[in-house]
Amino acid sequence: MPAAAESCLLAAKRWSRYAARVNPIYEQMKTSVFERMSSLAAEHRAVNLGQGFPDFGWPDEILEAAARAVKEGSNQYPPSRGLPALRDAVASHYNRHFGQQLTAQEVCVTSGATEALGAAILATVEPGDEVIILTPAYDSYAPMIRRAGGTPVEVALQPPEWRIDGQALERAVTPKTRAILFNSPHNPTGRLFDSGELQIVARVAREHDLIVITDEVWEHIVLDGRSFTPLATLPDMAERTIKIGSAGKIFSLTGWKVGWMVAAPNLAPVVARAHQFLTFSTAPNLQAAVAFGLDEGDSWLEPMRGRFQHSRDLMTRSLRDAGYAVLDASATYFLCVDLNVSGIGADDEIFATEAVRRAGIAVVPLSAFAERDPPRHLVRLCFGKKDATIEAGVAAMGKARELLA
Ligand code: PMP
Ligand code: GLN
Repeated sequence: MPAAAESCLLAAKRWSRYAARVNPIYEQMKTSVFERMSSLAAEHRAVNLGQGFPDFGWPDEILEAAARAVKEGSNQYPPSRGLPALRDAVASHYNRHFGQQLTAQEVCVTSGATEALGAAILATVEPGDEVIILTPAYDSYAPMIRRAGGTPVEVALQPPEWRIDGQALERAVTPKTRAILFNSPHNPTGRLFDSGELQIVARVAREHDLIVITDEVWEHIVLDGRSFTPLATLPDMAERTIKIGSAGKIFSLTGWKVGWMVAAPNLAPVVARAHQFLTFSTAPNLQAAVAFGLDEGDSWLEPMRGRFQHSRDLMTRSLRDAGYAVLDASATYFLCVDLNVSGIGADDEIFATEAVRRAGIAVVPLSAFAERDPPRHLVRLCFGKKDATIEAGVAAMGKARELLA
């Protein structure tokens, strides 16, 4: 057992006689796979292709805007729903890029998309409600739905295509269904759902009068010349959609944790009230810099996509040369490797734990993203990295293959 885990266990034993009653949801919850793999990567000095964060690509201009805002702007509480300049900038950004007609009234700034997800779920789900998620699903969804008193209902996407099966989605709806939590482009598969699939989700939501929480944080990281359509732009969807975005993804600044919810005037005040007692507000200087980035940075987006596409191609080619079966990925900065087809018998958890310990490479096992019958033969790698990091990571994957095939 690693030294850190052992000392945690000892501490837990020493304190167990003071057994205070706590919420079992948190007591039984595992540490997030991203935290777990990043701490193993640090412990073993491994190349970290697990947790998704780029090691290049953030625009200098936005860092300078943040520094200016720290020195010259306000460092006191901003308005709970966000700086007016940022709320305006988010609305104008979507109006320009996706032809929407939003106003600042529909925007609520949050501390990252993670908080937005929590607030959107708390604002819509009541005890007894069911919420449909498409698995593999981002790891905060199910615990937050449960914390709100709801039940996550998994609809499994099947590899390697990960297509939405309209009949399976329809079958998952019951009289208790309140919402669908829909993530496109999709993490961890790297899939951008097509217009037919968006129409399926919209039709099911309309026919059963459901809210859709659309996690669209990867909206600008779409590759191969594809284009992204927000679900809220489909007919009659705006009034039932809470859209979630993140500056962390748009500007490759994941540690900033500036995100937002966009919801129609019937929903916006409600989600804002859920946000006000989670964090109340978000660092004003970072908000000011993100507002600057959204207003000034349209020309940064295309080069960013080109650069991620280069990284995706480099990693795919090099992994295939090293004997790995790589699934197609056309959005986000993640791709998946099929261990079985690559001739590796170990399941994803064993592969991930052994690879970080013995080969010096951290990846993410896909079984962390579903509870019911999860795939156990796939691992996710982050390709949002410099060439040198990709080369070091793929060399370590080669070593892992020698050890585990
Ligand atoms: N949703 C999805 C699908 C994500 O991939 C991420 C981060 N990778 C988040 C939410 C969280 O975003 P943030 O860092 O802005 O909280
Ligand atoms: N969303 C990032 C990923 O998919 C990680 C976010 C986190 O660590 N909470 O890797």
